[in-house]
Amino acid sequence: MLCPKCKNGLVVEDKNYKCPSCQISLPVVFYAYRLKQEDIDKLVLEGVSDEIEFFSKTKKKKFKAKLVYKNGKVDFEFCSNKENEGKIEEEREKENDTICIFLNSLSSGVVRVFKMDGDKKEEKIYDFGTKATRYSHALSLIAILPLVPNDKKLRIISDDIAFVKYALGEATPRDRDIRTGIYVLLQELKNYTWSLELSMKKLKLKGGNSKKLSKTFFRTLV
Ligand SMILES: [Zn+2]
Repeated sequence: MLCPKCKNGLVVEDKNYKCPSCQISLPVVFYAYRLKQEDIDKLVLEGVSDEIEFFSKTKKKKFKAKLVYKNGKVDFEFCSNKENEGKIEEEREKENDTICIFLNSLSSGVVRVFKMDGDKKEEKIYDFGTKATRYSHALSLIAILPLVPNDKKLRIISDDIAFVKYALGEATPRDRDIRTGIYVLLQELKNYTWSLELSMKKLKLKGGNSKKLSKTFFRTLV
């Protein structure tokens, strides 16, 4: 990609295109749309892009909007079309307000935590040794919550049915450690607006060594 002003090559820094000599910073990806050279040219030189087709992940629907570049930031230009405006507002709220946390069991005691905050994705593997999976789901959530701002809504998706039942109060763990873990977790969750669901995908997982799992394999989990 080239800087529309000075024609220098743009560098990618913190997921943004930046020009080494001009004050330009544009996201590489905006709402899952990868900016093209022509978009960058229009945004920088004219302040507004042509109409771009976006895809809403939450609604699994396409929507069209123009982008504007103002005060060093790219944003949607709210179209005169009222219906479209509502859609975009809703989209923005959903994507900005909610953090998705996926808890996938890799093996007993080993949990892969996948955090999705808009376009930001983060993956951590927690290994709690020989602890039961249901317990390690609670523990990994407790571990990750301090990293999640509590003005966000939390959507937690776990693939351990016992953990989901315990956390939702539909069953009580017999094991005292797990009972304590669930209690601590629920106390922590009081600071959030949260939902918890069981992931519907049946996964065949072998072992907990994430290096052996290919990237395409991970993609199927999300
Ligand atoms: Zn430049």
